[in-house]
Amino acid sequence: MKSYDEILIGSGPAAYRLSNLLATTDHRVLVVEGFEYGGTCPNYGCEPKIFLEGAARAVLQSQQLLGRGIKTPATLDWSALMKTKLDRFNPWPGQTSEIISKSHDVVDGYARFVNAHTIEVAGQHYHGKNIIIATGQTPNILDIPGKDLLHTSYDVLSMTELPKKMAFIGGGFVALELATLVAAAGADVTIIVHSDRLLREFPVNETIALGKDMAKRGIHFAYNTNLQAIQQTKQGLLLQTDKGTMTSDYVVDATGRHPNIDRLGLEKADIQHDRHGIAVDSHLMTSAKDVYAIGDVVNRKQPKLTPVAEFEGQYLFDLLTGQNPEPIHYPTVARATFTFPEIAQVGINPDDVQKKADYQIKTIPLNGASLYAGQNDQTTTLTLVFSHHQLVGASEIGDHAADDINNFLPVIGLKISGQQYRQALIAIYPALADKVASLLQ
Ligand SMILES: Cc1cc2nc3c(=O)[nH]c(=O)nc-3n(C[C@H](O)[C@H](O)[C@H](O)COP(=O)(O)OP(=O)(O)OC[C@H]3O[C@@H](n4cnc5c(N)ncnc54)[C@H](O)[C@@H]3O)c2cc1C
Repeated sequence: MKSYDEILIGSGPAAYRLSNLLATTDHRVLVVEGFEYGGTCPNYGCEPKIFLEGAARAVLQSQQLLGRGIKTPATLDWSALMKTKLDRFNPWPGQTSEIISKSHDVVDGYARFVNAHTIEVAGQHYHGKNIIIATGQTPNILDIPGKDLLHTSYDVLSMTELPKKMAFIGGGFVALELATLVAAAGADVTIIVHSDRLLREFPVNETIALGKDMAKRGIHFAYNTNLQAIQQTKQGLLLQTDKGTMTSDYVVDATGRHPNIDRLGLEKADIQHDRHGIAVDSHLMTSAKDVYAIGDVVNRKQPKLTPVAEFEGQYLFDLLTGQNPEPIHYPTVARATFTFPEIAQVGINPDDVQKKADYQIKTIPLNGASLYAGQNDQTTTLTLVFSHHQLVGASEIGDHAADDINNFLPVIGLKISGQQYRQALIAIYPALADKVASLLQ
């Protein structure tokens, strides 16, 4: 049986960061991947979606400027766009596997624990001094009659023909982002949400404004509606909900994602877990000694995002190489939903401190500024949260909210005062960055 210093199960952003760092050491490392090298983000997540968003945004911005100098809005040929996407992204898993195998052993297949220090992949056993579980998450599939007719985000991001009528189940970022893309390309989209709330992790006013904006552009919302069954009929798919029936050509289950743990045989190594993921201690060690978990598969309160997964990969490298024995300390994490308009948020959410005396909330419409007015970006609103004159939270709805909010991240994360900021920095003008100095107290 081959023996390694580290066995990494998965090759997504968490494991990939760790494997790149371990390549600088003399450790013997094995990387195991059951599906596509590189994991969700470059194959079925952040990267392809933001690539497709480039063309979708051009369409939506030109629609927004109709009658303001733009005579004919752009249109989107989904199949042509998808061809450029597939040409760019199809080689990535192979290239990623090649990069990893320059420094480490690589084996294709799903890993399963035999005991806390041994895994089995495709009938072979491998021993690891340290084993790192970085298996990420996978899309949920509703357990309803006709569930085989449901698609996931994976399918949409490689769909070569645009269906006429599409339905998305879920009010989270995956449903709303993908719905934005296909609607910009001309699909007739309905989003079925089981409650009356979109994007729970973002400020409620901004999510309501986003829903209204999307509805104005022709996306239908069925709130407080539960899908109960799907059936293939001659006319297309018949969706049975608790509010009645509707038809569609393509239904996407975007009801959430769950940890990839089912195939791991965690019980063989006594590794504790629940439906949110694998339990770890403050050093990312699981309940089994020298077995660690990093990335989306971990049960933690921090958002399940690529930079967080990579941060954990970096932390574990520092821990395993003796450079940092301290418990993990997560930095300030910003997040965004790449809809049109976008919503982005960092630090304290204004909804959580509405009535608390120690906090001051300022809401600033930005649509008067030439930068936003020139794009006819009517919705853009920035909300800042201060505590004792220090900026502690920022959120924005607007066409460039993600970039805008990144300007506030260092101020919040590094606790920079207004005076320090103004003394140290003069930003590019005109941009949101140039407003930061005057907005800070
Ligand atoms: C549609 C979509 C859009 C997203 N957009 C963003 C975004 O804009 N920004 C952002 O920060 N994040 C985004 N994310 C989230 C981001 O993709 C994840 O946070 C990130 O990929 C997590 O990395 P990971 O390494 O933990 O897991 P993953 O990337 O999921 O990788 C895990 C890997 O482990 C493999 N694996 C699973 N089980 C086994 C096994 N038993 N044996 C061997 N291999 C196994 C899987 O095949 C997979 O390749 C998005 C996700 C989705 C689905």
